[in-house]
Amino acid sequence: MKKWRLFTFTSMLPESNYLFVHTLLSWHHENDRQLPWKVSKDPYQIWLSEIILQQTRVAQGLPYYERFLQLFPTVFELAAADESDVFKAWEGLGYYSRARNLHHTAKEVADIYSGEFPKTYEGLLSLKGIGPYTAAAIASFAYELPRAVLDGNVFRVLSRVFGIEQAIDLPEGKKSFQKLAGSLLPSEHASQFNQAIMDFGALQCVPQNPNCPDCNMQSICMAYQTGRVKELPVKAKRLVKQSRYFHFFEVIDGGHVWIEKRIAKDIWQGLYQYPHIESTDPLPDAGSVLWTGINYQDIIPVFSTKQQLTHRTIYAAFYRLARTRLKEIPDSWIKVELSRLQEYPFPRIIHDYMNRKEWLLLFNSGEK
Ligand code: SF4
Repeated sequence: MKKWRLFTFTSMLPESNYLFVHTLLSWHHENDRQLPWKVSKDPYQIWLSEIILQQTRVAQGLPYYERFLQLFPTVFELAAADESDVFKAWEGLGYYSRARNLHHTAKEVADIYSGEFPKTYEGLLSLKGIGPYTAAAIASFAYELPRAVLDGNVFRVLSRVFGIEQAIDLPEGKKSFQKLAGSLLPSEHASQFNQAIMDFGALQCVPQNPNCPDCNMQSICMAYQTGRVKELPVKAKRLVKQSRYFHFFEVIDGGHVWIEKRIAKDIWQGLYQYPHIESTDPLPDAGSVLWTGINYQDIIPVFSTKQQLTHRTIYAAFYRLARTRLKEIPDSWIKVELSRLQEYPFPRIIHDYMNRKEWLLLFNSGEK
């Protein structure tokens, strides 16, 4: 791992920014996280790591990164892969639109750019699933272009150290933070600065209980000096959380089971599931009728669970249903040998059911 020459490039910065950058880089000199994608200059590997790590902790994302590189060592292998194989490799990470965009972009890079990622920030930004943050990360890490990254970690660090009360989720605020991050960036060492500030936010200046007592920024941190650490960063919008209620039916048919593919533009698009209905309440109306005249009240509940996503809580109840109870099977259902079920990509909540250890009724407990 290349070690940094702090004084060479911090000395080129304006005086007002010098202290912050120097203190940050001194911290990183001692606390650099050794991660495989950080030593790579390959835009494919950097892009892969950035997409996997969106909304995902490093410890969880690392085995996925390694698995993807093993299965799809270059952008050409990923582009040529079947979508189900990409989803299968992604299974358990959630936010499946990322996997879909990943596959789409791999095809675009392989077909239109002959396997070479664009070498400009704007070119990277034009690719599907690559927003300003990811474009800046690839541009700086792979090509050393002077682009400052702005993710949740960076917002938090800048907001606290510089005592900024502008909301980080409004366009005006974003613009100000982008300007500040850009003004701090040492132009010839963009990757080192970007890595340092992201690591500092991820390890030291974390959202809850930041390690202020043992922080080398104390003397220059406005939030610490003025007792506002808990108040910063400021968000304007409070997240409105939505609840969704899914009811899945395991229809066993000899040594087979019926599943269906989620094709609608919705969560888990492209993944598989047991046939289901969705209701607006925890328990559908006792008189609800399923596909072929079967009453909801005749179905045996087996298990229920929930999954917390960023914007919504998913409640899932699972039931058993004998094939003989169904007069017809809808065209969209797929009959799969039980022994081959694991070959299909499923959302995590279905795996919760497959791996269940007990019969449990959550919905009836009154929990919402
Ligand atoms: S003193 Fe606390 S709030 Fe300020 S940078 Fe350090 S960890 Fe973050």
